[in-house]
Amino acid sequence: RAKAIKGNSYRFFTPEMHEKARARLTMESALRRALERQELEVHYQPRLDVATLQVVGMEALLRWNHPQLGRVPPAQFIPLAEETGLIGTIGEWVLQQACRHSRRWVQALGRPLRVSVNLSPRQLHDQQLVAKVRQALRESGLPAQLLELELTEGSLAQDPHTAERTLGRLKALGLRLAVDDFGTGHSSLSYLRRFPVDVLKLDRTFLPGLTEVAEGASFSTLAQAILHLAHTLSLRVVAEGVETREVFDFLKDAGCDEAQGYFFCRPLPPREFEAFLRGSLEQAACGMTG
Ligand code: C2E
Ligand code: MG
Ligand code: MG
Ligand code: MG
Repeated sequence: RAKAIKGNSYRFFTPEMHEKARARLTMESALRRALERQELEVHYQPRLDVATLQVVGMEALLRWNHPQLGRVPPAQFIPLAEETGLIGTIGEWVLQQACRHSRRWVQALGRPLRVSVNLSPRQLHDQQLVAKVRQALRESGLPAQLLELELTEGSLAQDPHTAERTLGRLKALGLRLAVDDFGTGHSSLSYLRRFPVDVLKLDRTFLPGLTEVAEGASFSTLAQAILHLAHTLSLRVVAEGVETREVFDFLKDAGCDEAQGYFFCRPLPPREFEAFLRGSLEQAACGMTG
């Protein structure tokens, strides 16, 4: 046993590990300054009603443009922000931005668009979360029912008891709650009943892919089963990552409520998103080529 531990600690100090740790530290200190250096931006991806093809809302997605590192993908820096606790400040800023932008668009277009904001596990378990959400709503003037918060199954599983209480308090503000990436985490169907969620976001791994023709049928069956289950529990289903007409047609037949994905539009910076909303599709650099 002592040998195994010795072995592990030796491995920890290989040059590659050292290099990795250094790269991480570099990125961490860069991320620490990203907000004040205005390197962060919130982009928006439209969400469409499957039956009417109307834009009914949008998901706020964080982007980091670093002068040297370039565009750092959220899959890289969100986990880092989560581990270091930086997600607290950054997440609050995203929430404020999303509420402000949405309020402006709702007013300018005279349509009730709903904005959906991702919350990380640490944010969900932040004691100040409810106060921060209330403040973002008040400060922006966005009606609470036009805000939706997306949580992952993982963050609900972390401490279900606290999560349940927090979600109850959030619901009391009048907003909507969504379970993101449904089916990829510690899926427990009991969660859908236990927690006061309104929306289920069907992960794209459940959508029939063009490459998995053989598996396609079983994927479709699974997606249909999830849709049926969600509707039985009076949840709305949003399919994410819709890339093709085939998948869209499938979702329409299966009775899916809303969809988002490259087939309709990529996530866009605020100005382009507003143009997209106004119907200036050409200017908005939308569609599969964007
Ligand atoms: P998510 O919440 O599941 O967001 C959906 C992801 O799918 C986004 O990736 C979006 O750009 C991408 N996507 C949209 N349509 C398509 C499509 O048709 N095909 C494919 N392949 N992908 C599509 P993105 O923007 O890279 O974000 C990745 C993840 O990072 C998000 O997954 C979310 O978990 C996290 N994230 C992003 N912004 C925030 C944020 O402000 N706060 C927190 N806590 N997490 C965030
Ligand atoms: Mg999401
Ligand atoms: Mg998702
Ligand atoms: Mg996803």
